[in-house]
Amino acid sequence: MNLSDSWLLSRVSTRVLTASVGGLLGWWLGERLGYPFGMSVAGAASAMVTLSVLDTLNGHRVLDWLRTPELDAPELPGLWGEVATRVQRVTNGLRNDVAQERARLDQFLSAIDASPNGVLLLDAADHISWISSSSADHFGLNPQRDLQQRVTNLIRQPAFVQYLAAGDFREPVKCPMSRGNQSYLLIQVKPYGEGLKLVISQDITERERADTMRRDFVANVSHEIRTPLTVLNGFIETMGALPLTEVERTRVISLMAQQAERMQSLVSDLLTLAQIEGSPRPASDRWLKVDKLMQRIESDAHGLSRERHPMVFRTDADGRQIELAGIESEWLSAMLNLVSNAVRYTPEGKPIDVSWTMLPEGGAEFSVKDGGIGISAEHIPRLTERFYRVDGSRSRDTGGTGLGLSIVKHVVQRHGGELRVTSESGKGSVFTLVVPAVRVRLV
Ligand code: ADP
Repeated sequence: MNLSDSWLLSRVSTRVLTASVGGLLGWWLGERLGYPFGMSVAGAASAMVTLSVLDTLNGHRVLDWLRTPELDAPELPGLWGEVATRVQRVTNGLRNDVAQERARLDQFLSAIDASPNGVLLLDAADHISWISSSSADHFGLNPQRDLQQRVTNLIRQPAFVQYLAAGDFREPVKCPMSRGNQSYLLIQVKPYGEGLKLVISQDITERERADTMRRDFVANVSHEIRTPLTVLNGFIETMGALPLTEVERTRVISLMAQQAERMQSLVSDLLTLAQIEGSPRPASDRWLKVDKLMQRIESDAHGLSRERHPMVFRTDADGRQIELAGIESEWLSAMLNLVSNAVRYTPEGKPIDVSWTMLPEGGAEFSVKDGGIGISAEHIPRLTERFYRVDGSRSRDTGGTGLGLSIVKHVVQRHGGELRVTSESGKGSVFTLVVPAVRVRLV
């Protein structure tokens, strides 16, 4: 017999004892008061019956309460009171345990939900049992409405459907995203439990774009270097194989020098880009005198134009000095690229106007306006892409690398500003560097 059995036995014996004592007392009192024997026995019996009726009533109250245990336990005397209190204590404990487990599960699901990777839980029949927010976004699902739906009824990408059907989940599968526009997901299924599946999705759009850009960039650089190298090789073979006159030799050497220069400009621009990309954001407390930068630009522009263009250089600052914060070599490179483009894409005799102006709303702008060949609207958004040229042969013939405007854009963005272009084919262009107020001051 264990402890609770003996406790129960003692409680039952107490009740029996109480009922018996009650019965005996009824009988004794009946005797004392002179009731006949029969009546005394009846008194004892009625006392016992009363006790047992009370007991039954209390038992029923406990039973009623057990049917709706969310209410508080009834307050009862004796054995039933004890039973109710103990049951209440046990249910309270269980309820606490369940609440704690639920809170832990909610916390766990919130953690998964916070992940940028999508998580979808499937049951053994591939019906959706849980959808994380990222997963909903990746697949265009509704986290509540789409529960219990068969996953392939909602995600119909053939690559995913085949992947799930094939059941070979060692490698992930690449899939276009539901929202389209060149967005991609990497999906990996991880089976677990008994036929259950975890579908993990990762947005790889940016990675894919960067990969494509890197591949294009390497292909472009190789192409840009291979072309002058091929030409150089041709000339070297010619010089080795053919007897050339002095005039021919001079001409060939000059053409070879041009190609070598082209490669040099390319390598130099590539190094500038790499350096800009790899260095930290420029400090905003290193002040450069705009007048000094303008002198340098003016002398280089005259060197490039060789008096073929009427040029104006202005600084509008009400007789004061403009100072610019940032890295001198980068600002010079950006300004020079714009001026060099203006010279290269402006026919002889057409004007070029270069100016620094303080803006009334704060900040300043450096602007290069030319009366050159201009650019038609469809090309303008792509001008700052690496190696993008409107007219490849004109760019190359004038020593362009196709990297100038990418460098300009990088520099100005790193300094918190922006590059603006307005142009019209045949009428000329205006390229403007807008510099934010924090990087400009008047002294
Ligand atoms: P590039 O070395 O070819 O000049 P950029 O990146 O500096 O390379 O310029 C990209 C393209 O933008 C050029 O090839 C040219 O077609 C066009 N472009 C740039 N500046 C001008 C301009 N001032 N006038 C007309 N076209 C221009």
